[in-house]
Amino acid sequence: MSDCIFCKIAKGEIPSKKVYEDEEIFAFHDINPITPVHFLIIPKLHIASLMEADMSHQMLLGSMLAKANELARSQGLEDGFRIIINTGRIGHQEVYHLHVHILGGPEPLGSMIKRNAS
Ligand code: 5GP
Ligand code: ZN
Repeated sequence: MSDCIFCKIAKGEIPSKKVYEDEEIFAFHDINPITPVHFLIIPKLHIASLMEADMSHQMLLGSMLAKANELARSQGLEDGFRIIINTGRIGHQEVYHLHVHILGGPEPLGSMIKRNAS
């Protein structure tokens, strides 16, 4: 996808703070971190979101999650982290190139999503 910002980051056409790269995935720090450590893992292949993923992407999706532990540790997240994959309109996805958020820091992150007061 020629106009996709994350495709351009994966190709090095837009600069980023790289965490890791291999033939199929690229990881880089989020430009607007919401936790002390916040980076993204993306496939080099343009997949718009998990809504476009299927079993043909099984190996690639597996690689992204299987690599998360090593990459999180490389960023100092020795005691756990959170993974978020925002998906589609309801999932509040903003960039339509599939990405895994890895979030963490020295303090526990708190509960996942605030429950609505009822
Ligand atoms: P989403 O809401 O789609 O799950 O998250 C997109 C994430 O991409 C956001 O956390 C945002 O800060 C990050 N982001 C958007 N544009 C750029 C960019 O050009 N460079 C980097 N490093 N992160 C970006
Ligand atoms: Zn893309």
